[in-house]
Amino acid sequence: MKILNITHLYPDLLNLYGDRGNIATLEKRCVWRGIEVNIHEVTGESMPDLKHTDLLFLGGGSDREQKLVCSKLQHIRNEICDYAESGGVIAAVCGGYQLLGNFYQMGEETIQGLGVLDIDTYRGEDRLIGNIVLQCSIDGQTFRVVGFENHGGRTDIKKETALGKVLSGYGNDGKSGFEGVLKKNVFATYLHGPLLPKNPMLADILLKRALIQKYGPDGIVGFGALEDLLEEEASQVMQQRLLTRK
Ligand code: GLN
Repeated sequence: MKILNITHLYPDLLNLYGDRGNIATLEKRCVWRGIEVNIHEVTGESMPDLKHTDLLFLGGGSDREQKLVCSKLQHIRNEICDYAESGGVIAAVCGGYQLLGNFYQMGEETIQGLGVLDIDTYRGEDRLIGNIVLQCSIDGQTFRVVGFENHGGRTDIKKETALGKVLSGYGNDGKSGFEGVLKKNVFATYLHGPLLPKNPMLADILLKRALIQKYGPDGIVGFGALEDLLEEEASQVMQQRLLTRK
């Protein structure tokens, strides 16, 4: 039986807008396919075991919570950079996304990031809030992703590759037309909502990448499609609502 170890970093601090639902989705979609899942929550001063992690998740948080997390992350900065560099799968949402970058500058204060992604974030005057739709092309599939964003930060992704193109909403900075970053197996995005229950195809891409990373190409043999009728219908409703109102 295949096993995936999912590490959830600081769910006590980075937990906005139902981010925990992302973990529930990953877990269920494995269980439904007969894949065993271990979820390891890293809280307080405990340390992640990245050598045995197949998928690392970081959720979103307020500026205050990000500051608390930032000091903890600096102790494991090298381990996380090595993990990402060697193809480890990471899913990071909003505050977690910003923390993967070089820094998040909030007026006079700067939160140091992990430098996994070469991106810089600056807090703007107002917050970018609302529902969002993206167009993504990943692993030979082109599909739409729906979600919700609420961030003060504007992220300059410089030469990194975006996760998707914004069809409706703000995205990385409200003007570039791009959202998130996809680098190797690092998926970073401003989308809450939560992201994965609303977009099961993205959850499956993450799981498949984690299985291939762990077991090689044969890792996804037997990884069949699931019936996602309700999710697809809900996504269509949001797309209809957001893309036809202009
Ligand atoms: N505190 C960050 C910002 O406002 C991230 C917010 C979030 O995770 N939703 O930009």
